[in-house]
Amino acid sequence: MVLSVGLVVICCVLVRGRVSKTPKRLETPRKEVLEKSSMKEKETGQVKLTIVYDNNLYDERLRTGWGFGCLVEVDGKNILFDTGADSPTLLANMETLGIDPKEIDILVLSHIHGDHVGGVWGVLEANSKVTVFLPQSFPASFKEKIKSYGADFVDIFGPTEISSAVFSTGELGDGIKEQSLVVKTKRGLVIITGCAHPGVVNIVKKAKELFGEKIYLVLGGFHLGGASDSKILGIIKDLKALGVQKSAPCHCSGDRARELFEKEFGDDYLEVGVGKEIRL
Ligand SMILES: [Zn+2]
Ligand SMILES: [Zn+2]
Repeated sequence: MVLSVGLVVICCVLVRGRVSKTPKRLETPRKEVLEKSSMKEKETGQVKLTIVYDNNLYDERLRTGWGFGCLVEVDGKNILFDTGADSPTLLANMETLGIDPKEIDILVLSHIHGDHVGGVWGVLEANSKVTVFLPQSFPASFKEKIKSYGADFVDIFGPTEISSAVFSTGELGDGIKEQSLVVKTKRGLVIITGCAHPGVVNIVKKAKELFGEKIYLVLGGFHLGGASDSKILGIIKDLKALGVQKSAPCHCSGDRARELFEKEFGDDYLEVGVGKEIRL
């Protein structure tokens, strides 16, 4: 066990040595980000989010599958956050929605689970000019495979600027390591979670600590399937106390959590599923 962990660490170090692009690390995140934010305010135009993969249906022309994927269009960049469980479903949905995989600039993977990374290879086959931002703890074999398609990858450690107005929280969690996406919009921060294994409240706390800005929307998998009502209600209370204005739980949030979020957030609850578009 110790030996295999050691090997993984060594392999990761070796692979990291070949990364060709160095991400902009936010060593003193809050200050740096706040300074950038005034700059970004002028630059950031409309932000469009499209859920391209989910187990909940929104647009009846599309296919559902267990997993999550969301396209973020901001400042002329197309960023795909997670890819669902399989390429055929992902690519078919994208085609129906008029999204060309060749136009994707950046791929961000929240965590290693198959329902989030399963569609990666179909995207890379269609477009190798993509930079993949992934938690540094991903296995070396996964990173090698990205390289074998001719694409680049960037290891995410701490909070990182991925593109103009788009940031990673950094790799979070003690168990399953996961990064979430933070998008700065005119209405406030939008936080997009894959499965929220580190806890959706912890993720939102981290984003608030990094940016100190109003949180407009939290969207994605909240990992509350099978959770008790009291646990879900406690999480809703914590999110509201952190200033979360709107919520859009999907993927692994669970039907009961979606019901309770809808009840508690009222008009600020967004019903989302595959095909839902949100413009900000
Ligand atoms: Zn997961
Ligand atoms: Zn998941």
